[in-house]
Parts: sequence; C-alpha cells; structure tokens
Amino acid sequence: MKIQTHKMTVSIDEHSSHLEQFKDFYKRLDDEGKTIEKLPRHEIDDYHLKAVNAALGHVWEHNEYYRSLLEEAGFQKPEIDSLEQLSTVPMLKKDVIRGDKEKLLCVEPKEIGQVHLTSGTSGKPIYTAYTLADQYVYDLLPKYLELFKETEADVTAIALPYEFALPGLGFQRLFQFAFGTTVLSLGKGGYMAPVDKSLELMKEYQATVLTTTPSYAALLAEESEKVGIKIGEDIQLKKIWLTGEGCSPAFRERLEKWWGCEVSFFYGSTECGVIGVECSRHKGYHIMEGHVKVEIVDPASGEVLPHGKTGEIVVTTLLREGMPMVRYRTGDLGNLQQSHCDCGLTMDVLQLRGRMEHMLRIGKEDYSPFMIEHFLMEIPDVGLWYHLKLEKDVLTIEAEKFRTTLSDQELAEKIQKHMADRVGILCEVVIRDDIPRTFGKATRVFV
Ligand SMILES: [Zn+2]
Repeated sequence: MKIQTHKMTVSIDEHSSHLEQFKDFYKRLDDEGKTIEKLPRHEIDDYHLKAVNAALGHVWEHNEYYRSLLEEAGFQKPEIDSLEQLSTVPMLKKDVIRGDKEKLLCVEPKEIGQVHLTSGTSGKPIYTAYTLADQYVYDLLPKYLELFKETEADVTAIALPYEFALPGLGFQRLFQFAFGTTVLSLGKGGYMAPVDKSLELMKEYQATVLTTTPSYAALLAEESEKVGIKIGEDIQLKKIWLTGEGCSPAFRERLEKWWGCEVSFFYGSTECGVIGVECSRHKGYHIMEGHVKVEIVDPASGEVLPHGKTGEIVVTTLLREGMPMVRYRTGDLGNLQQSHCDCGLTMDVLQLRGRMEHMLRIGKEDYSPFMIEHFLMEIPDVGLWYHLKLEKDVLTIEAEKFRTTLSDQELAEKIQKHMADRVGILCEVVIRDDIPRTFGKATRVFV
C-alpha cells in the first residue's frame, strides 16, 4: 500500500490549455496503479513524441519568436514524426533570452502566476514565468512514487533560497501538495532565518527531511556543533535532498556519514524545473521523463550525440504553458545511458559532468572540478571547505583539516600523494583554517 498522498487537487477556474490532454494519460496510470517511472521505454517515447508535438503546437500558436525560429528552420507546421526529428528543431541559447522577459512568453501577461529568475552571476538574469496551472496543476501531474518516499508523516526543512529563483518555492509546492509533508521554510541564511534558529526549528519540529545545497548541508552540520544541537539525537533525519550546486559522490558520502542518513541529488534549474533525480543506487540521475525530454549535443556542432557520449545537456520542458523551454541549451555537461539500474526504473540515467565554463584545463587535459573534489574528499582528514586555484597550469588546492591529528605539513603531503595517485596530477597544497563559509553558492574554483 502506498501511503504517499498526492492529496491536494487544485483546479483553476475555466482553464484550458494544450496540456489538458495529458491529464487523461496520468489519470490512466494512476488508475492502473502505475507511474511513468517503470513504463516500458516505448511507452515513454510515445508520450514524449505527443508531449513534444503539443509543446511545438503551443509555441507555434502563441509565441512569435519560437514560430520564427521554426519557420526559418523550414517547418511548415509545428510537428515532428519521430523523436529523432527533434534534432531539426532549433536550439535555444541562454544569450538570446537573457534580460528579455517576454521573448518566450506564451500566455497573456495577466495569466502569469509567478516569476522566477536565475541567480545569474554573469550578466542579465533569465526570467521564467509560470501560470498558476503550471505551478499547481501540470507540474504535479507526473508522480514519482518510487523515487520519493516522503509522506504526510514527514517534516521537511527547506533550506534553499525563496527569493527570485525557483528552488525554495518549487520544493515547498512539491512537498506540500504532492506529498502532504509539513514544511519548515528555513530559506538559506536570510534576514529572518539565521543558521542557529534554523537548526532550533528543525529540532523543535523533529524534521525528518532536509532539502538544501551541498555546502549548506555542511554548514548546518558544522554550526550544529557550535550551538550544541546534536545531529543524530536532537535532529534525526531520514533523508537529505541536495540541489543547486553540483557535488561529487565522495562529498555526498561524507554528508551521509555526518548526518547519518541517505543523501541524494536532485538536478534541476530555474529555467527548466526538475530534470533528474538520483535513486537509492546512486549511479546517476534518472531523468524525470514526465517533465522533460533530455538530449545530449556536441557543444561545438550542436549535433545530437548517442547514449554514452558526453556533451551539453539540452532540455525540452513538456508540461509548461507559460514559458516552455524548447531544446534549451543548459550549459551543463553530461551523458545519457539507457537505464539498466537495478532499482527497476526505466527512466534514462544521466551522468552530470559539471558546467562547461567551469572545466579546469591543466596541460592538455580538461578536468572536472567534481572529479577533483571527489578524490580530495576521499581523504577523511580533509574538511568539506576547499578552493581549487588554477594559475599557469598549476593547480593549487587550499584545504582545511577535519578531525585529524596530522600536522599541516603531513596533511599537505598526504593530499599531494593522493591526487598524484588518483588523478595523475601534481598539485600544490596549502592548508588553511579560514576558508570562508557562504550562504550563497559556494565558490570553490578560481581560474
Ligand atoms: Zn535507479
């Protein structure tokens, strides 16, 4: 018996859109006691083709920019005959939509329920507009009951930004409306939510789930020791969901040890919403096939790459009315595999390789910062705060000590040897005790 609730049913008065047709698809799955997670691949593909065509029809009818792109690419009607033909649909670059709040809008401005924008460290923000139906109806149509075990018995602490970007409010809706959990809206170090108060609230209400970024999960654990709240006793979590920043498997495992619960990744963005979620096998992200169609393309030529090849992640949102993303170039790198995961889910598996602009070029090789982090975090004497600095082909690792009796010198040598053995690079190491903590996105790479 599934006790997960999905108990909220929201309807929007006199609302209709191109997405109404998919209510039947998901209702049928519900009635049969199924979710999209374990459907045979050809049924997922059938759904994708229908949903992509529905999205193409919608943007063709309601958005000049999308229509002109399609017409310039030779489309006479907004339709593809097979998923392979999706490669003929023009891709969408960030630069084109940056700072322009109307370019992709497919509804009247008065239909907008909520606006989110990217935290964009570079240049103008990217605006995304959701209709009420996007937020409360369509986004909640696909259920992932295998991946999410949260129920109304749970208390979820959401330590993500509630301002501007999607994460805080997006997870708030998911946990309240889909799972019926109690939500503690901690935010992330905002004026109303200092870290000690956040920990006290988690203790007071016996939080069982925490949703936050990797660096903030580390910060909360660290601060708990200072304010005398014992993790594992005062706060006993069942699960941590990490999002917002990438992190390596070894960093995730360090957090699992510290918090004493399973830690899983959730990959999404303010532009595209949810993209992938890790199952309990931790072998990559299962694509949220109900919400998105994901492709991998060669970053230079734009050509679609086969399964197994690493390239840029391109996302088409399937259940969006206000501002659908059609073949959106995320700037993130990864590769896709058919699922052979022994969790039994049939949704493709994504390996994330980080952001294109963050790769570290040492000599003639590109190194993913996550990979370097992974090997660094294998050393238990190293803390969770570090910097990677690249200057003139020399990588300097700045690290802190963690519950160790080693001297600075000994730890530096240990790191050097470990990185030479595991990554095959010679690096400089500086041991510090003052690496700054942050409430924002942790900046760890300096080039
Ligand atoms: Zn799996």
